[in-house]
Amino acid sequence: MSETKEKFYNEGLRFECQGSGKCCTSHGEYGFVYLTPEDRTRFAKFFKIRTSEFTKKYCDRTNGVWHLKEDPKRPDCMFLVGGNRCSTYEGRPTQCRTWPFWNEVMNPKAWAKDVASFCPGVGKGKLWTAKEIDAILDIETKAEKRLGL
Ligand code: SF4
Repeated sequence: MSETKEKFYNEGLRFECQGSGKCCTSHGEYGFVYLTPEDRTRFAKFFKIRTSEFTKKYCDRTNGVWHLKEDPKRPDCMFLVGGNRCSTYEGRPTQCRTWPFWNEVMNPKAWAKDVASFCPGVGKGKLWTAKEIDAILDIETKAEKRLGL
């Protein structure tokens, strides 16, 4: 009960993706586009190929953790097209589905610095309740555990 009272998002947060594609570029800041086993399976289904094939073609492993391959010559995710469109939207991984409600930014300072001032979707559209945000954070936490982060 008291935990809920202390959350800076107790009154909810407004967010609706504006399709800027900003969260799909310069992943260096927040690291890779990580992939749980479920993410790789979902992607493979999207591409209608075997998971092993998807992994071989599109994935790399760093410190034992799978993520999308990166092209050192471009900061964008390889699936970003036209600067702002995800070409694999239906197959996108957990971390893309849960943005911007990530555990690492759910404090007032990080939210203001790394999310609100960066993402044009913050403050727009749907008001996400604290309960809905907590449910997303729970998905995020489970994915992090699956990744071993
Ligand atoms: S998979 Fe799609 S939503 Fe996720 S970072 Fe790449 S382009 Fe963006």
